[in-house]
Amino acid sequence: MTERPLIVGNWKMHMTPSEATEYVSRFLSHAVGHPGSRDIALAPPFASLHAAAASLAGSEILLAAQNTHWEEEGPFTGEVSSRMLAEIGCRYVIVGHSERRGLFGETDRRVNQKVRAVLLCGMTPILCVGEQESDRLAGRTREVIDAQLKLALANIRLDDGQSLAVAYEPVWAIGTGKNALPSDAVEVHTIIRNELRIAYGARTAEASRILYGGSVTRSNAGSFLSVPGIDGVLVGGASLDPDSFAAICHAAF
Ligand code: PEP
Repeated sequence: MTERPLIVGNWKMHMTPSEATEYVSRFLSHAVGHPGSRDIALAPPFASLHAAAASLAGSEILLAAQNTHWEEEGPFTGEVSSRMLAEIGCRYVIVGHSERRGLFGETDRRVNQKVRAVLLCGMTPILCVGEQESDRLAGRTREVIDAQLKLALANIRLDDGQSLAVAYEPVWAIGTGKNALPSDAVEVHTIIRNELRIAYGARTAEASRILYGGSVTRSNAGSFLSVPGIDGVLVGGASLDPDSFAAICHAAF
């Protein structure tokens, strides 16, 4: 299991370029970057990636994208490729977020193609998986997570030294103020790590970071980040305020 947690702020469709610049300057004033002890990434919307990249230059904070197209280039009006994201300086790309799956019809096959595209461009996918509340109530959590992972990673090879990030985000916990219990999250994280072990071997499974996401705030972040097996958090709403996101990052030691 990693000793270097990853904290990601997913801004979703918030923050214009000038707001992103303002955010980054305030966020950096909290001195959250600690090289070697944790990785922190911000995931602005596409239109604000460049502004965020410019403001983050020279800092320890990494850049992430919220989505990608699966092809390298072509007639796909309105889409953005992984090559473009890599050139802007993204290190991570969120793939298969439940809002993409639920609101934009993203299928497991597309998620699989996107994971491949991100890896081919030298970035790390943050692959999101998570069950609906009805699945959890029906005792189907393991089945759903297993299926999502297997389909997302089908025929995906990793180069030597390459690893993945997987975000366990129970759909019922996203933006709702309802958390999974850290103990429930760990149970699912163990399932995920086992799948990674089967697919890629122990070394890659240990090097891959498994994050929890779903209504993480400055007041509950520590309860997730202090649990062995939870290698970081993916934060939506609470990352929109630079002070609160900085407090979450400070909880990661
Ligand atoms: C997310 O968008 O991935 C997320 C977990 O959102 P929130 O923190 O608002 O629940």
